[in-house]
Amino acid sequence: MPPILMVDLMTTSQPLLSVKNLKTYFALDDGVVKAVDGVSFDIHAGRTLGIVGESGCGKSITARTILGIVDRPGRIEGGEIWLTRQAEDGTPYQTDLLTLPLEGSEMRAIRGKEIALVFQEPMASFSHYYTVGNQIMESILLHTALGEEGARQRAIDLLGMVGVPKPERRIDDYPFQLSGGLRQRVMIAMALACDPHVLIADEPTTALDVTTQAQVLNLLQTIQKERALSVILITHDMGVIAEMADDVVVMYLGRAVERGPVDAIFYDPKHPYTKALLRSIPSITAKPRTKLATLEGSIPHPFARPKGCPFHPRCAEAIKGVCDRYEPVPIAQGEGRDVSCFLYGGQP
Ligand code: SF4
Repeated sequence: MPPILMVDLMTTSQPLLSVKNLKTYFALDDGVVKAVDGVSFDIHAGRTLGIVGESGCGKSITARTILGIVDRPGRIEGGEIWLTRQAEDGTPYQTDLLTLPLEGSEMRAIRGKEIALVFQEPMASFSHYYTVGNQIMESILLHTALGEEGARQRAIDLLGMVGVPKPERRIDDYPFQLSGGLRQRVMIAMALACDPHVLIADEPTTALDVTTQAQVLNLLQTIQKERALSVILITHDMGVIAEMADDVVVMYLGRAVERGPVDAIFYDPKHPYTKALLRSIPSITAKPRTKLATLEGSIPHPFARPKGCPFHPRCAEAIKGVCDRYEPVPIAQGEGRDVSCFLYGGQP
């Protein structure tokens, strides 16, 4: 029996999902890649948490770790993932997902029913051999008491809700018959099939053109508000974070380097990496032909993680003899935010 901690019914400030010191490593022939290395964050009911950073910083592996679907040779090395749930009598309780067997019935029930995932590229996630209706219905039949007919009707309703035109006809289409935008809408419908409390959207619009991106983000925002969903939105795009998120975690090389409410971080970014990401957002007030700021250098090779602060080779504000020797830890900055950078304290 996994450890279960009963929480006070009246505790409204309880996070719906609380990730603590999460570590996911990949043991490869050439060494160990610490893809997620001590990441912590909370997400509260009805809020959107944006996880942002360049590709290779550990965002997607964080999402996959929460759902227990890390591909081999990845291993969850440590941490806790507390999910607040509801017993049949309505009593809330918490379960640490990392104590559940990954392929056990409880974890399988949590995937899809309590936490659902929208992938970056739906074509890679759908089966080519089944209609989209069959794929949505599969999840409904697995997680609910509905029969075939009820599940089909629910799938049609979901497709209509996410803006698929003529859903009673499109339900019998195969994924390859749909445009990229429609496929992403179907993927969202599939994720919502069992009324999850937490929706993880991993770069949900990266593969789409700009107009369709805006439509899908609008759809996610509407659904999030209507259903008071908690959304974890993973993106490399600070512009998307500005539009969608309430809170932000900025990740770099497997670490959360800055965390806090979106307004505080956008108006007063502290970590040099956050500042660089913000400078790379296109501005409509910039003079014509102004070059977009780009981040100097690139993310180091995973086996060549720099000693000290992992960002120091790219950091214009690095303190010689400190940043290249010691690793900063999170320093509280008030307003529920913290930053891991020696410019804000913690120098040895
Ligand atoms: Fe830059 Fe040093 Fe801060 Fe790292 S700790 S971000 S190198 S100033």
